[in-house]
Amino acid sequence: MAVTLLRLRPLLIALALVAPVVSAQTARAPSSAARDHRETLRSHEPAVPYSAYNDHPKLAIILVIDQFRGDYLDRWRSDFKGDGFNLFLDGGAYFPDCYYDYANTKTAPGHAAIGTGAYSDGNGIASNAWWDLSRNQQRPVSAVEDERYQLVGLPPSSIPPGAKYVTGSSPRNLLASTVGDELRLATQGQSKVFGISLKDRAAILTAGAAANGAFWIDPASGYWVTSTFYMSQLPDWAAAFNTSGAIAQAEQDANAANTKNFYNDVGKTPAANTYELNFAEALIQGEQLGQHNVTDLLTVSLSANDMMGHASGPDSPDEQQMVDALDSQLADFFTWLDKNIPGGLGNVWIALTADHGVAPVPATAAQYGLNAATIDLTKLIAALNYAINMKFSPGEKIEYVLPHQDLPYIFLNDPEFMKAGINEQEAEQAVQQALPAAVDSLVPQQPTPPPSDSPLAGTGKPAVLPSETRLPPRPALFRSYTRQQLADGPYPPTPWGTLLAHSYSPFGEWYVMVIPTAFQMADSHGTTHFTPYSYDRHVPLGFYGAPFAPGTYLDRVQPVDIAATFAALLGINQPSASVGQILTRALKPADEVTYPREIPPRPHRAAPAHHATAAHHAAREATPHP
Ligand SMILES: [Zn+2]
Repeated sequence: MAVTLLRLRPLLIALALVAPVVSAQTARAPSSAARDHRETLRSHEPAVPYSAYNDHPKLAIILVIDQFRGDYLDRWRSDFKGDGFNLFLDGGAYFPDCYYDYANTKTAPGHAAIGTGAYSDGNGIASNAWWDLSRNQQRPVSAVEDERYQLVGLPPSSIPPGAKYVTGSSPRNLLASTVGDELRLATQGQSKVFGISLKDRAAILTAGAAANGAFWIDPASGYWVTSTFYMSQLPDWAAAFNTSGAIAQAEQDANAANTKNFYNDVGKTPAANTYELNFAEALIQGEQLGQHNVTDLLTVSLSANDMMGHASGPDSPDEQQMVDALDSQLADFFTWLDKNIPGGLGNVWIALTADHGVAPVPATAAQYGLNAATIDLTKLIAALNYAINMKFSPGEKIEYVLPHQDLPYIFLNDPEFMKAGINEQEAEQAVQQALPAAVDSLVPQQPTPPPSDSPLAGTGKPAVLPSETRLPPRPALFRSYTRQQLADGPYPPTPWGTLLAHSYSPFGEWYVMVIPTAFQMADSHGTTHFTPYSYDRHVPLGFYGAPFAPGTYLDRVQPVDIAATFAALLGINQPSASVGQILTRALKPADEVTYPREIPPRPHRAAPAHHATAAHHAAREATPHP
């Protein structure tokens, strides 16, 4: 209820300021009326335009839902009750057609894109993990793990027996600054910037290197931790949160009391979102965000939807329940912000988006007739290794292609190739050339009947006949690109070419990027995201806050536009590799932007009836909120 009324506050102030001018307009020339309007406003505004330097807004929040496809908000819109998602859909600027413009739609690159306003070619993050044999010969390294640092805040039970520490994480591979980094630089460290998520990569890559801190959880215990990259000790408020009973409460809410795997057992339930948002509130209070003379920034990545979504898929009742639960959890969080940020929610900006979408579960897509095959990646790697051995070292069983692969990238064992005197170009091209046959070999080919007008059709031999029912899906390759092709081009002069160019990162060993045809994946249970297809690239984009003109905008936009738009409005530099557009069509004219000037008296005054002019506000007033 409070939020609904408060959402009107900027509007009320605007109306109060504009009203006398509008009546004067009939008697005066428009130019003088306009000047009056500006003067009326000016007397209520700071002498310089609103920006980060004069704490407008007091707090900016980038809210990322991990794996949240762009169609969900429209699909389940009639379910939304309070001012959770409706804050953006009714009270904010909503862009239903927001698509990532790159091909490797995974968690780490998605969060890096949101933070930096750049894609993999600009920020370096192309995957969650990659093989880097100089750092680890046993397994791929993650995008943020960093053996030069250690984790901070782990409970003793999460440090392996005999070990003194657990390897830390950092933005070591992030090659671009984030909007938070730029805010820190612009205000000479006065702005506070934090990132949180259940996942280290989602906390770190959205917030950036100059952030005051990034927090994520220890998977076993659920304790909030950070890394010595950021600080050598947890802040008191964070340590207090870890022992406050919040973990036990979340476990109980998730029906997972005393679990030894908090990340999985609580992480896939709506209780994880409450747990994260409660931590966000503790952080805002503990660090006094929104109480400085400059703008502060918090990035929050909600992980639960991804963990549940992989298992259940976008078309499951679980997904709808998670989205509906999040709607009311967000409403609670926004109400809390309204009460706890000086001046209320009118002094906060919130951007809402996701790091990627998701494919339908292959069995579901196949049911509708789509060729949604599952690819046996272990078999594919074996087939490739067989083919490469046949070509370069017949009779041997050299592991030219590394194990533990994660599509779309297949990393090569370049030391083995080099030993055989094969350079990168030859190696990558050999794998690329072996791919079509290797994919074809995954499922035995059925004999194909001759066309009915072929002379063979009536020869009387025991012919193969056409199927009477739909045939099962078959793995099929769409395209593949070598690391060198992605690095150097030439790219086709088309949107597809741009998408490829955006997907390149120099990190890791030699590789080939494998793009199956749409609706295919390597996961044999559940579903996933990693492709250049719309279902993986489509995410929601919403803005709430004083500068944003409420409305639904059917422009094709990108998540990288968040950093660009925030940077422009804050009056700071664009992040170092930013390619986002400033979404000017969703911005109010500067002289119509108003912020609450002071801490309002509590309880809030009810809005005068004649001000509730907008239809949705009027309708909303009539409906009591729970
Ligand atoms: Zn995921």
